[in-house]
Amino acid sequence: MKLCLLYGGKSAEHEVSLQTAKAVIHALDKNKFDVFPIYITKKGKWIQGPQIKESVEDIKLLQFSNGDEEIMPQSLSKDMDMVFPLLHGPNGEDGTVQGLLEVLDIPYVGNGVLASSAGMDKIVMKNIFAQAGLDQVEYASFIRSSWEADRDAAYSEVEEKIGYPSFVKPANLGSSVGISKCENREELAAAFEEAFRYDRRIIVEEGVTAREIEVGILGNDELSCSVAGEIVPKKEFYDYEAKYADDTTELVIPADITETDYASMKEMAFTAYKALDCSGLARMDFFLTADGRVLINEVNTMPGFTPVSMFPLLWKNSGVPYPELIERLVRLGRQRYEEKQ
Ligand code: ADP
Ligand code: MG
Ligand code: MG
Repeated sequence: MKLCLLYGGKSAEHEVSLQTAKAVIHALDKNKFDVFPIYITKKGKWIQGPQIKESVEDIKLLQFSNGDEEIMPQSLSKDMDMVFPLLHGPNGEDGTVQGLLEVLDIPYVGNGVLASSAGMDKIVMKNIFAQAGLDQVEYASFIRSSWEADRDAAYSEVEEKIGYPSFVKPANLGSSVGISKCENREELAAAFEEAFRYDRRIIVEEGVTAREIEVGILGNDELSCSVAGEIVPKKEFYDYEAKYADDTTELVIPADITETDYASMKEMAFTAYKALDCSGLARMDFFLTADGRVLINEVNTMPGFTPVSMFPLLWKNSGVPYPELIERLVRLGRQRYEEKQ
């Protein structure tokens, strides 16, 4: 099978994506897969590298230099059997690359256009969750232009509907970029400014005191749920630094939660997965609040995927080691493509 890996990308998670590519290359059985790399630079150029026949130790070797091998995305070779987008965030996890692959009629791993784009937009995602009857935090959404027209009206609306503490987030990013916690109106105003730097739509949520528990889902129509894992941030919240830069975050797998809580999470995760029309994989993130409520926080349609990331570790602890996880995802992508024909 000719498998094309797409990695790098314009998002804040460029470096993470390179780590993922390195790990996926290492894990792929080169007797089964002919691996063809495409590196997307931070500026968004697509650079095709030569076939990869063995593990790559230094990620710099995966960053092909600009110039000779640059390709136009639309000229992505049709003789690839499958594309594996190892991309996170905007322009990768949000349905845009998936749309390109649909137009080119090339099968790909992971979620399709709808689930990817709906899952990347926190407002749309929460509206879909609400419609599916899932328990979640209170939230309200705002558009930049109406906030600019009357800022105090926006802040008053937050104070009435949500109160403090609240979390302000750009609708469309991941990796905790642009997210702030607010305790009063002054912080709220600063948080709006910050979040609107990244997006023209933002969401404000009720802040909860909660443990953060996550499960991994695999499947198209028939779903499997991994064991649960807990993120124990040693900072106030699980911000970008805590996620990627430092090791102040501990992952506890399996999470120490009751069977009942696990059962609710599994059921909610399946409901959310179907409501968003996910396929392949997703990581579903929950809050287990101090007063015992299970709330869904978000879906990640291309969760962190290095061998030390939560999603692969959840599956490893559920009896699916990394190389097998990759093969299973490739099979699921193939299956979805065939069912569509
Ligand atoms: P991202 O998609 O960037 O991961 P999240 O919505 O998961 O964004 O928020 C990042 C982190 O911020 C969470 O993992 C959690 O630690 C904290 N957080 C986000 N929303 C809330 C909330 N409503 N209440 C309490 N903590 C929150
Ligand atoms: Mg996210
Ligand atoms: Mg998150």
